[in-house]
Amino acid sequence: MAKYNPNHFIEAISNRMSGRVPACPYCGGQKFTSTGNIAAILIGDDTSNLNLGPHIPCGMLICENCGHMEFFALGSLGLMDKETDNG
Ligand SMILES: [Zn+2]
Repeated sequence: MAKYNPNHFIEAISNRMSGRVPACPYCGGQKFTSTGNIAAILIGDDTSNLNLGPHIPCGMLICENCGHMEFFALGSLGLMDKETDNG
């Protein structure tokens, strides 16, 4: 088991944004929250039958004003190895 640590996600995404606070593309809000859980975006090439299987584990940022959700691939942030090490 590789336990997700949301603090690692927030630290990684903050580093990649160089301290810049993004604006929500829908409402322009600049306050975001995250969750203690990851989301898994299922991937496949059959549009009529998407099974549980290959997926992209993502951390989430959620706009506190309108609830718009953004997903960030944990692998791209270098967190998959880190989470495994902590498991
Ligand atoms: Zn918003």
